[in-house]
Amino acid sequence: MNIKTSNLSFKYDKKAAKPVLNHLNLDIKEGTVNVLLGLNGCGKTTLIKLLAGLEKPTEGSVIYGDKNLKDIKIRDRAKIFAYVPQQANVTNDIPVRQYLSYGTTNTLAFYEHPGKEEMEKVEATANRLGISHLLEKNLGEISGGELQIVLIACALIQNTEILLLDEPTSALDMKNQNLVLSILKSVAKEGKTIILSSHNPNHALFLDSNVILINNGVVCDEGKAKELIKVNKLIPIYGEHVCVSKDLGYEEISFK
Ligand code: ADP
Repeated sequence: MNIKTSNLSFKYDKKAAKPVLNHLNLDIKEGTVNVLLGLNGCGKTTLIKLLAGLEKPTEGSVIYGDKNLKDIKIRDRAKIFAYVPQQANVTNDIPVRQYLSYGTTNTLAFYEHPGKEEMEKVEATANRLGISHLLEKNLGEISGGELQIVLIACALIQNTEILLLDEPTSALDMKNQNLVLSILKSVAKEGKTIILSSHNPNHALFLDSNVILINNGVVCDEGKAKELIKVNKLIPIYGEHVCVSKDLGYEEISFK
């Protein structure tokens, strides 16, 4: 299903003169990968929270398919999209295996517990993400980067058609950044719709994604990464030190 925002505006402080997001009209097509880029504080996290229904629009709406998000029941939302926050408030004394099993509950009736099939899904996804060795550890005993991978694994286990990820690689080393982005790339090929925020324009190039460039709460540009991730387009946002490195055989965005 497509995701649209219609004149979406948001204020944390209802009395503030200026909204954090100002009349966003997005039209995100089913099966596409979309990277939100922009400076700290431009509104990326807020937009993802609105798409996930964790904040309510001050004005306008979020539409999944032909339904306004506010009319979709919480339980049904978990069947449509999975959300990966930047930082999670998790209970420290839950083992990773048990936490991941919660990802399967969107397909179970309220009286059912994850069974053999669900636990196999947990193991397979943990294996795919290289975290099988963490399954018996408690959430409080793993590193920030490991926790980020656990949250991503939980979202993949939900197996929804849409993934909303807030800076999913922010705490990851280069190897795991590559692993997670590669998995997102292959998941996208299965036809899922992905919306993620990132601080690294190169991630959009790697994912060959669409880009939604946000500045000061408004969408200032949109398009294919290949066309939009250009020095002349990024200097007005990120400053005059943006440049390209041609050493890789392709034009990677860097700074000097
Ligand atoms: P980004 O993810 O692009 O860094 P955010 O969406 O987190 O930006 O923040 C957008 C703006 O909203 C910033 O000015 C930030 O200070 C403000 N903001 C974010 N969260 C809150 C909050 N819970 N209460 C009040 N203001 C907030």
